[in-house]
Parts: sequence; structure tokens; C-alpha cells
Amino acid sequence: MASHESLLPLRLITIIGSLNADITTYTSRIPSGGETLHARSVKTGAGGKGGNQAAACAKLSRTRNDVNNGSADIRMIGAVGNDQHGQLLLNNLRASGVDISGITIQTEIETGVAIILVEESTGENRILLNGGANYSLSPSLFVTIPNPKPSLLILQLEIPLQTTLQILKAAREAGIEILLNPAPAIELPAEAYANLRHLILNETEASILSGYSVEQIKNDSLLPIAARVFHSRGVHNVVITLGSQGVFYSQDAGLSGFVKAKKVEVVDTTAAGDTFVGAYALEAVKVDFDIDVAVRKANAAAAKTVGKRGAQVAIPWADEVGPI
Ligand code: ATP
Repeated sequence: MASHESLLPLRLITIIGSLNADITTYTSRIPSGGETLHARSVKTGAGGKGGNQAAACAKLSRTRNDVNNGSADIRMIGAVGNDQHGQLLLNNLRASGVDISGITIQTEIETGVAIILVEESTGENRILLNGGANYSLSPSLFVTIPNPKPSLLILQLEIPLQTTLQILKAAREAGIEILLNPAPAIELPAEAYANLRHLILNETEASILSGYSVEQIKNDSLLPIAARVFHSRGVHNVVITLGSQGVFYSQDAGLSGFVKAKKVEVVDTTAAGDTFVGAYALEAVKVDFDIDVAVRKANAAAAKTVGKRGAQVAIPWADEVGPI
């Protein structure tokens, strides 16, 4: 199998989405309304769900010493401003092994920024976004999916919704498989789910998009029913991540399962979900895709990310991920 696979051309994963500079503050606790707290420290790093997922795909397909394990080629399409934050993002993605030729540098608009508050005692975060250049990605840029055509296209919801809907339409017309991570969650029209190959979402997103409450989503017996809502809309593979609890997956053909989260020390959960998506995507483009293996590998990779501060910088290289 391995020798046969090595003869196949490298699969291409294209990510179209957001690129943000993450300005992260670390505090003992999240301030309440009207309260002022001193942060213990502040860091500026490379983030944005699109960029994070591209970095995750690329870092997890090679070792720290840049030995590519042949999983896939990774290409990012997005936009940054002509500023320091933009340079930071471009440099970081390049260093992770991402093809950045599809990233536009806008002169009139600043790079997107995320203000992140991390509560040190729990590792939980709260995030405020300013879209900036990400909002220059207009639907007219995606009448067709930019060449080269990927094996898998990954999308999130941090660029204008109309653009995402246009990309979904163009990808479907071109027969390209899509992985949608509907974050941050907003109501989507029915056609967004039609023939969608993979939907990966956390419990909050699953609640908003399915109509079930978070408590119901967390209930073992109701999880499959919530997932079925997405299958009935046309999604083939549904993966619901439940943070420290674990991950539920289900396929329209009937297979489903639950994988417990790894027991790890939590430092900062930023980009855990993005690492999960990246690791899963590398399995999704394999000819012998197995959803259980994909979820276990993604769970092991994401567990590494929660042990480190920051977004892209916290994503592990392939040789840093523990056993599944
Ligand atoms: P993010 O913080 O990146 O927005 P998310 O809310 O999209 O994450 P989660 O469900 O919180 O997604 O986490 C995604 C995956 O990361 C989990 O399914 C799990 O594999 C891993 N993970 C998250 N939190 C923990 C934890 N405390 N311990 C172990 N693994 C975790």
C-alpha cells in the first residue's frame, strides 16, 4: 500500500479563509462587565481560523526538520494588509510549509486582528474579531475555484458569508470535496450543507446550527440525533468536538463513534479546534479514509495544542504528536 501510495501525485488541500494577528492577553480570570484587570502578559502571534488550519495541515504533514511525510501540499488563499501584522502572518505560514502565493496583500485595509483573553487557571478563551483585510474577499473573486484545483477545500466562517456561499457553489460545480468548519457559527441556508463531505463543529456551533441546546448536545443519547439533523441536510461526515470531553463522529451510512479527549495539562485551548481540523483533513484526502482513524489522529494532535500558548505556534509538527 505504501509503495502504491508513493506513486500517486501529492494531494492538494486548499484553505480559503481568515488571517488574523492574535493579540493575546493572559489573565488570572476573565474580567466581568465594567471591571478592569491587569493582564500578566501580552503576546502578538499568527492566527485566524483559515491561517491556523493551513498551518495545522502543513505542520502535521512534516517534521520539525522539514521532512515532508508526503501527506499533502497545502495552499492558503486569503488577504492581509500591507503592515507588520500581515508580514508576521506571511512569514509564519511560509515557515510552516504553506504555499502563500494565493494570499493577496491589500494596501487600503489593515490586517485582521483578534483580541484574545486567556484565563490562565482554565486555559479557556474569549475572542473579539476585527475582520480587516479578510473582508476584502468578495464573492466575485470566486466565480470558479482558483487553480490548481484541490482534492479538498477547507472553509470556515470568518470571511463574508456571501463569499463563503459563492465558494461552496463553485466548489460543488467543480466536484471538489469540501470540509466546512462553521466557526464562528451563523445560520446557514440549506444549500450550504448539500452534498457537504465533512462538517466539523464544536458543541456551541452544533447547538446554534442544529437547534438543540448545548446541554442536549452534551447528552450521549441526543448527540446522534443532533448529528442526524446535519445528515438530513446533506452532510456525509459529521464530527462534533466537545472540548475536554471528547469527540463524536457519525457518517450518513450509519457508522458512528465517540473518542475520549486525551488527559493533558491545559495551558491555552486557542487553535485546538483548528489543529483538529488540519489533522483530520490530512486523513480526509487519503484514498483509504477511515473516519475513526481521522478523529483519533485529530484528537491526539489537538491535545498537543492545548498544552502550549498561542495559535499557530502551539500547533505541533508531525513528530511531536503522541500515540492515538
Ligand atoms: P478552539 O479553542 O480552537 O476554538 P473549539 O472550541 O473549536 O476549539 P474544542 O471542542 O474545544 O474546539 O476542541 C477541539 C479538540 O481539541 C477537542 O475535540 C479535543 O480533541 C481537543 N481538546 C480541546 N480541549 C481539550 C482538553 N482540555 N484536553 C484535551 N484535549 C482537548
